Amino acid sequence: MRRILVVNALIFAVLAAAVALAYYGYSATSSAASRERELQLMHDVAEEKVLNIEAWVVKDERTVFDNLRLDEVANLSEAVKPVSTSVTSVFVLDEALKLVPDGYVGPATRKPAESKQFRDWVLDHLVPTLPIAKLPVGERGHVHGIWRDGPLAGKPYLFSFVKRVSADRTYYVLIEDDLNHLVAWLFPTFFNVSDMSKRIYQVVDERGELVFGAPFSIDPDTLAVEVPFVDTVDGWVLRAADRDLGVQRELARKRLVDSLLIGGAVTVIVSGLAFLAIAIRRERRANELKSDFISNVSHELKTPLSIISMFGEMLANGRTKSPEQQTEYAEIIWRESVRLGRLIDNVLDFAKIERGMGVYEFAEADVGEVVDRAIELVGRRLAAANMTLDAEIEPELPHVKLDANAFTLAVLNLIDNSIKYAAEGKKIELRLLRDGERIVLRVRDWGPGIDPEEQSQIFERFYRARAVRLKPIRGSGIGLALVRHIAKAHGGDVTVSSAPGSGSTFELWLPVI
Ligand code: ADP
Repeated sequence: MRRILVVNALIFAVLAAAVALAYYGYSATSSAASRERELQLMHDVAEEKVLNIEAWVVKDERTVFDNLRLDEVANLSEAVKPVSTSVTSVFVLDEALKLVPDGYVGPATRKPAESKQFRDWVLDHLVPTLPIAKLPVGERGHVHGIWRDGPLAGKPYLFSFVKRVSADRTYYVLIEDDLNHLVAWLFPTFFNVSDMSKRIYQVVDERGELVFGAPFSIDPDTLAVEVPFVDTVDGWVLRAADRDLGVQRELARKRLVDSLLIGGAVTVIVSGLAFLAIAIRRERRANELKSDFISNVSHELKTPLSIISMFGEMLANGRTKSPEQQTEYAEIIWRESVRLGRLIDNVLDFAKIERGMGVYEFAEADVGEVVDRAIELVGRRLAAANMTLDAEIEPELPHVKLDANAFTLAVLNLIDNSIKYAAEGKKIELRLLRDGERIVLRVRDWGPGIDPEEQSQIFERFYRARAVRLKPIRGSGIGLALVRHIAKAHGGDVTVSSAPGSGSTFELWLPVI
């Protein structure tokens, strides 16, 4: 009954865990999908911002590239004027990449000496490294980096350049963009996000240092995207993140709790299935034992019955040679009917116990007397088996609460087993004594003993030791299961100590009330 409850509880737990897992799977998929959508949207917006900023920079450069004609170099500063806020300096180079006369205009903010020093540095160190000569005519190229040395060492720069042809003369225009303008004016224009906005932005340079925007860090839990600049300040990256980082932390915590719950559900499923597998195995084993039991019991019932009917018929027909033979036949009939009665008692009591019925009726009793009566009942069987029983019952044992019938059955089963399995030892020793707060019944024989591996199994219902299964010793495998049940019902227990070859000692104890 209890086993069925446990199995049902297990099935329920496994099902509940499976449903929880399915729910988590569903919610994780949908939240991953919405996260994916949100990220895609964020990426699209960030990409659009980068494209717009770069288009803005390129547009200003184009104003210079497109408007500047070689024969107007003298008026270079005029050509640069409209975009003087975004362009710092302009170089016009001839075919040999040499500065054309008046082909340089620098920022008014630089002192003339500084400006000249910068100009020469660019011409000597930067221009020779540019892929400028290979550019198709009219196509814009650019370089972005950090000055390693020279007058502006450590500062970032952005140059863009174009190859032009005018009146069969090739020339080049090189523009230094104003990165301060980019960071201080363009970025705030495009990332002018109010507090209400869902997103925050930052721009970091190639070294990961913050160039613009809110200082936030990106960890795997942050809902954030990165879009690199490609046409201007390549190496710089725009990062957009969800403004509510707190909510994201909350989400991360929820994910942690979810994964713990998922881990728990998986553990429940795995251990539940393992328990079920064990229960199924046990049940299968019990069924096998049960069918052994049925064939054993039918055999046990049939054999004494046929012996009884055979000898009864002989007596009835007067087919005996002498009165001694008559007594002998009558004794056989009597012995077999006792055996039959015992088996039927065992089976009926066992069936009651299996059905979980209240089978015991307790009353205060003298346990010594009960054991004495049981010994009387086995006297003839002992003699038939050629065995002696050496019994010692401690006098004046305290009274205990007993179901006398059940207890007698337990004692008979223990002695019967010794007669059945240990006849070769010739004697049985029985002791009933008080040991502290317990009354102990000890039944010892000198038979073949029990394999240590099987000592705990012999108390299981239907179990018969391997050694006896091969022998023609009859049995049903329920005797010791009954003994244990009876002992436990009385608040005690039964144990065995045995070494193969040197007999067995069964100890049944009850608590003193
Ligand atoms: P049964 O005797 O009907 O087989 P029991 O439950 O009484 O069933 O005993 C279970 C098994 O324990 C027996 O089959 C036998 O193998 C073993 N056993 C019980 N008592 C003894 C004993 N005194 N000596 C050796 N083996 C024993």
